[in-house]
Amino acid sequence: MSAALPDAGVSRFRAYGPRQIDTIAARYGLPDELRKTVRLVSQVLPFRVNEYVLSNLIDWQNLPDDPIYQLVFPQQGMLSSEDEKRLSVLLDADDTVSRRELTETVNSIRARLNPHPSGQMQLNVPQQDGVELKGMQHKYRETVLYFPGHGQSCHAYCTYCFRWAQFVGEADLRFAAPDPGHLLTYLGDHPDVSDVLVTGGDPAIMSTDRLRSHLEPLLTVDTLRTIRIGTKAVAYWPQRFVTDQDADDLLRLFEQVVASGRNLAVMAHFSHPRELETDIARRAVSRIRSTGALVYCQAPLIAHVNDDPRTWAELWRRELAADAVPYYMFVERDTGPHDYFKVPLARAATIFREAYRTLPGLARTVRGPVMSATPGKVLVDGVQDTPEGRYFALRMVQARDPQLVGRPFRALYSPTACWIDELECDPSTPEDIVAAVAGRVRY
Ligand SMILES: *Cc1c(COP(=O)(O)O)cnc(C)c1O
Ligand code: SF4
Repeated sequence: MSAALPDAGVSRFRAYGPRQIDTIAARYGLPDELRKTVRLVSQVLPFRVNEYVLSNLIDWQNLPDDPIYQLVFPQQGMLSSEDEKRLSVLLDADDTVSRRELTETVNSIRARLNPHPSGQMQLNVPQQDGVELKGMQHKYRETVLYFPGHGQSCHAYCTYCFRWAQFVGEADLRFAAPDPGHLLTYLGDHPDVSDVLVTGGDPAIMSTDRLRSHLEPLLTVDTLRTIRIGTKAVAYWPQRFVTDQDADDLLRLFEQVVASGRNLAVMAHFSHPRELETDIARRAVSRIRSTGALVYCQAPLIAHVNDDPRTWAELWRRELAADAVPYYMFVERDTGPHDYFKVPLARAATIFREAYRTLPGLARTVRGPVMSATPGKVLVDGVQDTPEGRYFALRMVQARDPQLVGRPFRALYSPTACWIDELECDPSTPEDIVAAVAGRVRY
């Protein structure tokens, strides 16, 4: 049975999905109950893992609590127990009628899991002559997000991913760009855009040749000063930068961007310090840094994965030790199995502060907890106790309207609120901020 998984050295990338769960279970001693849960929940939510994650990152003696197991494997509690029961009956019946009913049930559960949070796909898509420009979002004046069409999957999937709908074929993949043609035109028309953030999925899933075909043309745009690449490959498949057949070519491509006089930043997604414990992950960071590229680190705060201050303090120290810059701690968006993963803002602020205050100065580059919400990025700067009562201190660190950036404001404290739409601004808050926070300004 285990023949389907390669035995020795993890050298060639291969993704495993729901169909390989029995093989994974046999090989790693996954208890039957957990195997059944994966089989059930992965009907609805995406599941993808690879040999490196399985054999290097997961502690199989600590199931199901192991944080990396929680990060990539579907869990009991992500769906309601009624939904689990319905799925279980239909799966076991396995006749034509049940199979059809299973598809309908799966679709209805997905639709209830808020597959498109904050209207990310509809908002901020630039137009030219009334036509939507594919594969781009322009929300902040100086930054355009770019989604290359071939970079819309990842080396493994995070169970909390806010792009989960696209991985189960739900979302409209037509938003992705086949080539940078439209982006080049747009940059030509918008010289105030100095920063392109290449994202996905994970752009590092592309071959180097493919990635080059998306990046190289950008080097002809003088007004473009920074290229960022969002990736979790250092955590999930560090081989991409070290031993993959075209790993060296990838580093040459990075050098080429740096040599053009631009900033190149790899925005690395690290959820847990264990992801930086392997030699190959640290070598990946060091090889990226050796090209002159910067490495900035970010991740959401997730219950069951990293919801305690010691984990973050350790993560940020490891990032700094690896010569990378701690950048953002995000608040998880309201999508998919959000009830399972969510952490109240009040607790998030406490976790952040307790971790932050133990850090050396050079690691205090990190900001958080930050909500990437419709009006912009809202930082929860902490909890204030005043004679009038308790408040969240807030600040927009990024906003569509530059007038909003950097201005402090506050909202009434809530021990349970998990997102900006559950907050109430203090009555003295300026009207433009109240309107942005309340979503009364459409961007
Ligand atoms: C976070 C984010 C950016 C980048 O913001 P910085 O604060 O410059 O790192 C750009 N676009 C979108 C939509 C974002 O969410
Ligand atoms: S690596 Fe990023 S895009 Fe891919 S599943 Fe994880 S959070 Fe989602």
